[in-house]
Amino acid sequence: MTSAAAHPEEANPAALNPAHREWSLRMLTSQTLDVLVVGGGVTGAGAALDAAARGLSVGLIEAEDYAAGASSKSSKLIHGGLRYLEMLDFGLVREALTERGLLLTKLAPHLVKPVPFLWPLTHRGWERPYVGTGLLLYDTMGGRRAVPRARHLSKAKALRVAPALNPDALVGAVQFYDAQEDAARMVACLARTAAAHGAALATGVRMDGMLRRDGRVTGATATDLLTGAAIEIGARHVALATGAWTSANTGQEMRVRPSKGVHIVVPRHRIPMDTGLLTRTEKSVLFVIPWGEHWVIGDTDTEWPYEPSAPAASKADIDYLLAKANAMLADPLTADDIEGVFAGLRPLVAAVDTADTTRLSREHTVDSSVPGLSVIAGGKYTTYRVMARDLIDSAVRDLTGPGGESGRLIPASSTDRVPLAGADGYRERWASRQRIAGTSGLPVRQVERLLNRYGSDLDRLLDLIGDRPELGDEIPGGGEYLGAEIVFACGFEGAVHLDDALARRTRITIEVRDRGHEAAAHAATLMAGELGWDAARTASEVSRYRSWIAAQLAGEAAPDDEHAYQALKAAAAQPASPGHRPQARACG
Ligand SMILES: Cc1cc2nc3c(=O)[nH]c(=O)nc-3n(C[C@H](O)[C@H](O)[C@H](O)COP(=O)(O)OP(=O)(O)OC[C@H]3O[C@@H](n4cnc5c(N)ncnc54)[C@H](O)[C@@H]3O)c2cc1C
Repeated sequence: MTSAAAHPEEANPAALNPAHREWSLRMLTSQTLDVLVVGGGVTGAGAALDAAARGLSVGLIEAEDYAAGASSKSSKLIHGGLRYLEMLDFGLVREALTERGLLLTKLAPHLVKPVPFLWPLTHRGWERPYVGTGLLLYDTMGGRRAVPRARHLSKAKALRVAPALNPDALVGAVQFYDAQEDAARMVACLARTAAAHGAALATGVRMDGMLRRDGRVTGATATDLLTGAAIEIGARHVALATGAWTSANTGQEMRVRPSKGVHIVVPRHRIPMDTGLLTRTEKSVLFVIPWGEHWVIGDTDTEWPYEPSAPAASKADIDYLLAKANAMLADPLTADDIEGVFAGLRPLVAAVDTADTTRLSREHTVDSSVPGLSVIAGGKYTTYRVMARDLIDSAVRDLTGPGGESGRLIPASSTDRVPLAGADGYRERWASRQRIAGTSGLPVRQVERLLNRYGSDLDRLLDLIGDRPELGDEIPGGGEYLGAEIVFACGFEGAVHLDDALARRTRITIEVRDRGHEAAAHAATLMAGELGWDAARTASEVSRYRSWIAAQLAGEAAPDDEHAYQALKAAAAQPASPGHRPQARACG
């Protein structure tokens, strides 16, 4: 990015910290950017990286936190989408499988991992050849092999792999592979990678409106929610990647129909099996996905007519998920097994006139009908890079077209060759993990967990622990997470509020039974040291976080969407102190 102010950390521009945020705000307000990206989900963060890697001056604003919207609430699968295969949407499946391969092998091998799924068969005769042919196609469509091939299993073999299954619930099975990731971590890594390429990024900055001149969008008006300051950002092009908020931000210029998806999290030991599980439901499919020491079970797919900021899980959603999972399990789960719940909104493009959101396409569209503005909607996490490329291609066409700078040469997207922060050097460190454990004093298991979350940035965490050995301790009430991870979140990953650290940089909110109630106090003290919070601010962060999780729990006890939504809204309506944004998002 052309520099109007010295970069805060020439040595490490990928450190998203308060100094970087300040620098970014100066860059956003002191020049006319080539591209302003609005929205810090996977699409927006990917777009900021795409634009910065082409040499464009780019800024990104995000109203809440990186991945605060759908990008932290997904099933966390990087997949071709078997149900699109069944819908004969081969182009979408092939594209997604190609992206899956790139992420697994080149762009984010530290974050994206192969995961096995068992597909239980319930009919003799036709079902095995039908499912087997589909999976054979799935295995061959994605180009170079990045995951093992599908294999057929007899009923006895399937029960050996998945002893948790009710023997009456299947007649055999096919096991296939897809991939998974921690969706919120990947967005933080994308944002850091964009910053390393010169992008100016600021969370806690909400776009309020667009600046227009002579029928052209020329930037945005916004509010810095940390200070309350109103700002104006000049940009030759605005790229909107605001997911379920697209209609709200564009005044219905593009219709997005939000569809709510809920997941529950249960302890790993409650479902004894060595594989994930996929089963059909009347409307769609249900996944039981291995997730560290837990299983993630989901999801639902229902219309959400309320505000996009407060998707709430209700008791009806939870009962549905338990019932569907229990239809397969020998030892049924109960509500007492649940450790965490999260709800998100799929930003589906309302392309067809149907009330059934499972039939809407997950494919994306870019609307460039207003000069100076491109709006992306739809899509899925797996294909974020393609979406980001298409969005910035649209911006480039506008920047170099009539009314723009004709003759300006802007290179094509190169993000298929840009590894995300932490990817370079990951494999070498993985090979040396025993030695790293020996020298750091951390158990091998912790080193492996950290490598699969931070890649080669493990070195930075170990430096923190080297300087302050107490940061190598687990956070009280925070499961396996270490104090160093909270400090790293503040110094490198742009966490500015307690929920950023507990719900997205770590996943304590969904993985620990008290939803992080106990861990909040310790984590807030660590954040206070990094971010300069005084005692009042620290106490207020803890109290707001705890009210937020109390509201989530109230929503989960509510019988339906309406009551669950009201429970979340009530918590969000609490008066906010300076530096606090309203917290209405579901965890996850
Ligand atoms: C339940 C569920 C399961 C899913 N499972 C999968 C899966 O397994 N695999 C897969 O590939 N995909 C999956 N998806 C889809 C995927 O998660 C989404 O397509 C993707 O995360 C959308 O990313 P996004 O950046 O477009 O939107 P979001 O992540 O929602 O980001 C939009 C951002 O814009 C910000 N914003 C909005 N308005 C403003 C404003 N005025 N100013 C500043 N910022 C603003 C919001 O705060 C938000 O952070 C799933 C989705 C859901 C909900």
